[in-house]
Order: sequence, then structure tokens, then C-alpha cells
Amino acid sequence: MQREPSSTLVRLGADFYRRGWVLGTSGNFSAVLNRDPLRLAITASSVDKGRLTANEILQVDDKGRLLEGAGGKPSAETLLHVAVVQTAGAAAVLHTHSVWSTVLSDVHSAEAGFFIEGYEMLKGLAGVTTHEHREWLPILENSQDMEALSSRAVLLMRANPNLHGFLIRRHGLYTWGESLEAAARHVEIFEFLMEAVARRRMF
Ligand SMILES: [Zn+2]
Repeated sequence: MQREPSSTLVRLGADFYRRGWVLGTSGNFSAVLNRDPLRLAITASSVDKGRLTANEILQVDDKGRLLEGAGGKPSAETLLHVAVVQTAGAAAVLHTHSVWSTVLSDVHSAEAGFFIEGYEMLKGLAGVTTHEHREWLPILENSQDMEALSSRAVLLMRANPNLHGFLIRRHGLYTWGESLEAAARHVEIFEFLMEAVARRRMF
């Protein structure tokens, strides 16, 4: 649990924007402030992540209701963040809209996911110690019904307790970690791996 995650979230916003993972106000980030009752710091809806300010980090409860912050309304995807925090026990949840997650989540939608295996960078995922690891990256169909999407995400995480993340079709990546730093590392690892997997097929 982090006391003051705002400055880290602001830094991650600028960093991920620069790398093309949260363009056009897309993506959203959250960090657990308190577990019980749940208090989540989360980016406000429709804000430019490249120019995120501490004012645009809001505090919400386990129903996604705004408790603190005047920098906008909570992200539309707040319920998904709550679902990941409660089901996976995450301390932070990061959601990006990169090109490669958009492409691969479409290519593999019929199989509802794909395996990533044999890459050294897999060792950047928590608990993975060898490149021989086989990582399942599942795909959920996209929806604007956040309650329905959150319910499907909960079922997915319960059925696959070793997941490090999941994709939403033609939309993006959700990943998490035991700290904001761990979640940020997972974004970097998954973005690297997805680009490597996709580019490899071009040869
Ligand atoms: Zn999104």
C-alpha cells in the first residue's frame, strides 16, 4: 500500500504517453490507499496522461464512488480496477491502449488469449524465474457495460490465479502488481513481449 502515489502516477502518465501506450487521453491508473475499507487513488476520466497533474488523481471507494478530488470524475473503467484489486490482491493496476495490445487482442480473440513463451523478458513478471515459462495472456471481448466487463474479469482471474494481466479486444492491456513499481514493470514487460511476438511473425 502506498501513502502518496500521486507523484508516481503523474510520472508514469508522462512516461507511458511518451512511449505511445496511453495516447489521446486513453488508459487509466490506480493504486490502493487502504485495503479495508477499500480506498483507491485513480486517474480522472478523459485526462491527458502525458500532462497528468496530482489534481487529476481522485479517491474512490469499492463501488467506484468519488470520495476526494475535484479534478474530474472517476475513470469509466474504475469498476475494472476495483475488480482487479479485490480479486488478484493487487496494490496497483495499470491499463494501457498500445498498438500491439490492440492488434494481438484482435488476432487471438477466437482463442480468447494466447501463450507467450521462450522469451528472456518473461522473467520480469513477478515469480517467473526462467525464459521457459509459458505465460497465458487472456482476452475479454470489449464492452461499454463496465459491470458486465468487471464480472467477466473476476471470473477470468478466479479461474486463472497465476495471471499477470489480461487484454480487452481491440482495446488494451490490464496488468497489476504488489506495488506501483511492480505494476509499471509489468506494463513494460508485456508491451515489450507483445511487440516482439507480433513483429516476429512478420519474418
Ligand atoms: Zn481502456
